[in-house]
Amino acid sequence: MLLKDKTVIITGASRGIGRAAAFECAKQGANIVIGHSGRPSGGQAAQSLIAEIKDIGRHAIDVGSDAANLDTGELLVREAVKAFGQVDVFVNNAGICPFHSFLDMPRETYLETVNTNLNGAYFAVQAAANQMKKQRQGGSIIAVSSISALVGGEFQTHYTPTKAGLLSLMQSCAVALGKYNIRCNAVLPGTIATDINKEDLADPEKLAYMSSRTCLGRLGEPEDLAGPIVFLASDMSRYVTGASLLVDGGLFVNLQ
Ligand code: NAP
Repeated sequence: MLLKDKTVIITGASRGIGRAAAFECAKQGANIVIGHSGRPSGGQAAQSLIAEIKDIGRHAIDVGSDAANLDTGELLVREAVKAFGQVDVFVNNAGICPFHSFLDMPRETYLETVNTNLNGAYFAVQAAANQMKKQRQGGSIIAVSSISALVGGEFQTHYTPTKAGLLSLMQSCAVALGKYNIRCNAVLPGTIATDINKEDLADPEKLAYMSSRTCLGRLGEPEDLAGPIVFLASDMSRYVTGASLLVDGGLFVNLQ
């Protein structure tokens, strides 16, 4: 029960990494605000997660609102306070990666990616931090960045800057918010099998290659991120701020 009675907001919690993290936070005693896109499929997925969380004796609500909308963060915080009275942990996880080559990148694709992954996140982190400051009990903010914050990708020239931006945002916010005991950290997943890369990894050769590039010989599963996120959310990491944690099965260090 590392997060007993804490309120945790997780954006993009209807599927993939966010969903696994939300369920583990609930298992650790937290009540959860499940963010998603607001599309019907997101709402349905969120409802099934709410039922799973109820089954283990915790509470959850869902808030469907586009992460690219600069007001979404305030909405998430407002709904969290209405339902649970406070915000202790904010996990900025929602993200998209529409793979595309650089030389003919459509402006719309670039802008949608940057707005969803970074611009909305900036103001969502700001909204969560203001609420935590008001509560005077500190808090934990976690950005789900990526190994792509550290390395490039031919078809991710619009995506990798957003992940480097999130990492940098956590570092600067750690400096700005330390005086309120609000900790800010980033997790950097490697290749985790989710919907975001399903098409890219449908090619069996690419799948085998990416698995072989890791030290552990396998791709990650969404649940592999749950422990690191709970750790950074909880008081177990009370002296950790401005840090980044690679969760990549050893992909980054495996150069050869
Ligand atoms: P995923 O399975 O595709 O899940 C994406 C989540 O984000 C869903 O809950 C989705 O909600 C939500 N989302 C998408 N667009 C949104 C929008 N405009 N507004 C609000 N929510 C939106 O992806 P994932 O792999 O778990 O990715 C989660 C995060 O991890 C992303 O930030 C991604 O960049 C990062 N990451 C993933 C990997 C990887 O290999 N999988 C590696 C490094 C970093 P709906 O259900 O409503 O669409």
